[in-house]
Parts: sequence; C-alpha cells; structure tokens
Amino acid sequence: MLDRIKLSPQGPEFSSMICGYWRLMEWGMSAQQLLAFIEQHLELGVTTTDHADIYGGYACEQAFGQAIKLKPSLRQKMEMVSKCGIATLDKPGNTIGHYITTHEHIVHSAEQSLSNLHTDYLDLLLIHRPDPLMDADEVAEAFVALHKSGKVRYFGVSNFTPAQFSLLQSRLPFALVTNQVEISPLHQPAILDGTLDQCQQLRIKPMAWSCLGGGRLFSDAQFQPLRDELNAVAKEIGAETIEQVVYAWVMRLPSQPLPIIGTGKIDRVRSALKASSLELSRQQWFRIRKAALGYDVP
Ligand code: NAP
Repeated sequence: MLDRIKLSPQGPEFSSMICGYWRLMEWGMSAQQLLAFIEQHLELGVTTTDHADIYGGYACEQAFGQAIKLKPSLRQKMEMVSKCGIATLDKPGNTIGHYITTHEHIVHSAEQSLSNLHTDYLDLLLIHRPDPLMDADEVAEAFVALHKSGKVRYFGVSNFTPAQFSLLQSRLPFALVTNQVEISPLHQPAILDGTLDQCQQLRIKPMAWSCLGGGRLFSDAQFQPLRDELNAVAKEIGAETIEQVVYAWVMRLPSQPLPIIGTGKIDRVRSALKASSLELSRQQWFRIRKAALGYDVP
C-alpha cells in the first residue's frame, strides 16, 4: 500500500502520490466509469485528489462531483484539494484571462467548488498562481473566514516564489501547508531558485505537477538524450518504465515532493506507484539532471 505523508507538521495527511483531475474532460468517462476509476485509486491507496475551479473550462469539478454523488460514502475515504485565483475566458463576462484574489472571489470560488465536488468541506485550498494585485491581508481574511466556517481545513499556494509565500504567511494565524509547483527533469527551476529550499526549511512538502512534462517526455525529439539516460538508469535500478524513474527522481529531492499523476489510465497509475520503492543513487540523479539540461554541473 502507498505511504501516507503529513504535508507539514500541523498539516493534513495525504497519500504520497496524488491523482490530478486537470485533464478529466479529455478522458471521456461517464460518471459510472469515473466512479470506478476513483475506487481503483482508493484500492491502490491513492486517496488524495487534486482539482481547480477552472479545470476543463470550469467543468471538471462538477463531473467529479457527479461521480461522488453516485456513492457519497467515498468522500470520507479521500482528500480533496482545490484551487482558485485564476479567471479564464471560459467564464462569460471575462474579456481577458486574469488573476483574482479578492476576498469575495476566493470565498465564492471555494463555495462553488464545494457544491460542484458534492462535498461540504475541502481538505486544502490553494491560491493557484501569484497575483500581482494580491493584497495579502485580504487573502488572509478570506482564508480565516473559510476556516472558521469549516468549509476549508487547510490552506496553501501554488507556483509562488519564496517571497510571495512568506508575504502571505506573515498575515495568517495558521501555517500554509504546501506550495504546489512544477517539478520534473524537464523543468528544474524550483530546485534551484529557493522554492524547494523554503519548503525544506519550513518542513512543508511541495506538491509536484507535470512530472512527465504533461506528456512531452514521451513525444518531444529534444528529450531523446533524457529518454536514453532514463532507460539506462531504469535497467540499473530494476524499473519497468522511464516514468517510474522520473517519479523516483522527483521523490529523491529532500523536500519530499508529492507527485501529482496526470494520467487517465489506471494501469499507468498502478505503474507509477512502483516508483515509491525505487531508489536512485546521487550519481544516477545527477546523470538524469545532466541529460535533461544538456550540461554538467559547474
Ligand atoms: P503529467 O503526468 O506530466 O502529464 C500527463 C499527460 O501525460 C497525460 O496526457 C497522459 O496521457 C500523458 N502520459 C502519461 N504517461 C504516458 C506515457 N507512458 N506515454 C505517453 N503519454 C503519457 O501531468 P499533468 O497532467 O500535466 O499534471 C498533473 C496534475 O498536476 C494535473 O492533473 C493537475 O491536477 C496538476 N497541475 C497543477 C498545475 C498548477 O499550476 N498548480 C498545473 C498543471 C497541472 P494519458 O492520460 O493518455 O496517460
């Protein structure tokens, strides 16, 4: 069974790998098929689900909720994460994509997520992206209100720099529990720009999105040297697939990221979970880093 991990000293306990529902509308599942997909995750120990108000043109959360409606008892066996703070052209009335972190928007979006996901609480709510017009006091007030009403248990951020994280944290009476960021061999900035150092310093675990580069790992010609090295390391450590090696590479980081798996295929989920028992040596980790970046350490 998959390990469970506390996101932060006072935070919630999540499955060490998470299922992401950004692409749900692409999977073409009926509510019944989605229910089966969710139950298969729970059997595997993947209890944590990642959502956002805007996913699928604001349609994914409702589709997920329709499946939960078929078997409401599943709610207590899982954790639901959602996000708010982005406004897209998919919403009538928006003439430009923008960020919005007003008190009113945050509370309204969270309440809409509750209704769509067919639940009366979120385990975790994140601000999806840093908003240049963010008033940290206002966001903190919205978080406190949602916490007091019992609608949201824990709070965090996504794609925040360490400075943006610290600013919001300085206004809150409770600790933020995560920063959800892109981490993969294909995209390594968070590893070097202080983002993961801050997580390690505060003992909070980052959530890692697009570990497979959204699928580009398999398709882009530019990543052939990376695929070759991943295949070589896979043979050395007994991994069955290159994505298992990638997940092991992400989880090897000392901040202990929790990978969010983006596939709609349960066999690929099952395979991904095997990464949690794989161990990369320091030199194997650096070989993959080099193959992805194209240059050695200085
Ligand atoms: P990903 O795992 O990097 O990419 C998933 C894509 O890769 C899917 O289209 C999947 O297709 C494909 N794929 C997986 N294994 C494959 C294989 N062996 N061969 C070919 N294609 C393969 O993750 P992601 O979907 O980009 O992101 C994961 C989650 O992170 C999202 O669902 C969302 O919850 C979260 N996220 C958060 C943010 C943020 O800003 N906070 C941004 C992006 C994503 P199949 O379905 O066919 O397997």
